[in-house]
Amino acid sequence: MSEAQAPVDGELYAARQKIYPREIDGRFQKLRVYAVFALLGIYYLLPWIRWGERQAVLFDLPARKFHIFSLTLWPQDFYFLTWLLIIAALALFFFTALAGRLFCGYACPQTVWTEAFVWIERWVEGSRTQQMKLARAPLSGAKILRKGTKYFLWLAFALWTGFTFVGYFTPIAELAGKIATFSTGPWETFWVLFYGGATYVNAGFMREQVCKYMCPYARFQSAMFDKDTLIITYDETRGEPRGARKKGTDHKAKGLGDCVDCTMCVQVCPTGIDIRKGLQYECIACAACIDACDEVMEKVGYPKGLIRYDTQHGLEGRPKQVLRPRTVVYGTLIALLIAGFAWTITHRNLVGVDVIRDRNTLFRELPDERIENVYNVKILNKDAAGHDFRISAAGLPGIEIDYTGPIVRVGPGAVQSVPVRIRIPEDALEGGADILVTIEATDQPNLAATGKARFIAPTD
Ligand code: SF4
Ligand code: SF4
Repeated sequence: MSEAQAPVDGELYAARQKIYPREIDGRFQKLRVYAVFALLGIYYLLPWIRWGERQAVLFDLPARKFHIFSLTLWPQDFYFLTWLLIIAALALFFFTALAGRLFCGYACPQTVWTEAFVWIERWVEGSRTQQMKLARAPLSGAKILRKGTKYFLWLAFALWTGFTFVGYFTPIAELAGKIATFSTGPWETFWVLFYGGATYVNAGFMREQVCKYMCPYARFQSAMFDKDTLIITYDETRGEPRGARKKGTDHKAKGLGDCVDCTMCVQVCPTGIDIRKGLQYECIACAACIDACDEVMEKVGYPKGLIRYDTQHGLEGRPKQVLRPRTVVYGTLIALLIAGFAWTITHRNLVGVDVIRDRNTLFRELPDERIENVYNVKILNKDAAGHDFRISAAGLPGIEIDYTGPIVRVGPGAVQSVPVRIRIPEDALEGGADILVTIEATDQPNLAATGKARFIAPTD
């Protein structure tokens, strides 16, 4: 817990003090800006991309179909999502073991949206000093105007975020039309407001508190660290004893370390901590303190890197080890899972068949001494192109199939039900038996599937 937030006089609750992070420029800040633009760009633009007749990425819950460019996932394919989640979790463990909280600093939605909200805040209210001055200033027309503008822009941005989120589940162009005419359904309205509201509160007001108090990852990530994990760290041996000095002074002769105690590293920290106190769970590894300290070191003419990415072993002057049992195990597992995923998804059967018995009639005895059963054959075409299917039956001698055909057209990503009658000579049966119904695309014979059904006979 930072000093600013320590409870007073033994009280258990400490009110949050707003943090005004100082603006910083540097190589890591540039990387963060690129990451914010890339990730937000993908998030806001992706639902607007078209793929043929439909939206390229659409999680169509009512139709139970997830479209991701040329790929359509059906409920039967949802294990792919579980598979992806396992890969994502392992990747998080792998990168955490390797490079600490990289995800938190550069790619976590909380960090990314907070960064965007901070930019809006700076654009409207000015620098850190101007923001603090405005906060202390008495209520006035100018203050209301500035604060009001900021809250309005935050709200507009948050609602756009909520609208985009819902646009992944409802065709976004349709949704935009509905919003323009105030005709959205209750669930669409709820989710736009809910997601927009969550963005507004989390990125505008909660900010570092989400990382400190709500994020479970912050709590357990240190369990994945070892002495070879890359962390953002202050080189205590080099920096201490800290203290102010005049430029050009031989600080070593005065017994001082390289830290000039300017507190720039604390002022730029979005979570308000002092990295010089060691690794703290509040640190989201944004590297702003590295950029700030490097700038100071450059000004005073000392080598950069007093605060830097390093490992515990590196700080102790011992060799760094990237290949360790845990990184090798995580890396191998991820590689195997990705290879398995790629193979399975490219080799999955794009058609399926369900053979359902007509429950209204058990069987019919025909005048020509044959038994007839009626079924409903459901042809599922998961392919991005439509196909013509032929249906055949097998499993008993003399089996014959009758349906409106011989070709059944099934559109891309569609299901077609076909009533079929299957007839078998009475003397081929000794009671009921299992039969096989096969569907096969006429243009692509590898697109085929077989379903099993029970054929009911009088002695069954
Ligand atoms: S200590 Fe440094 S890296 Fe950690 S959150 Fe603060 S500024 Fe970012
Ligand atoms: S920015 Fe560098 S020199 Fe300044 S207080 Fe922090 S560690 Fe010391």
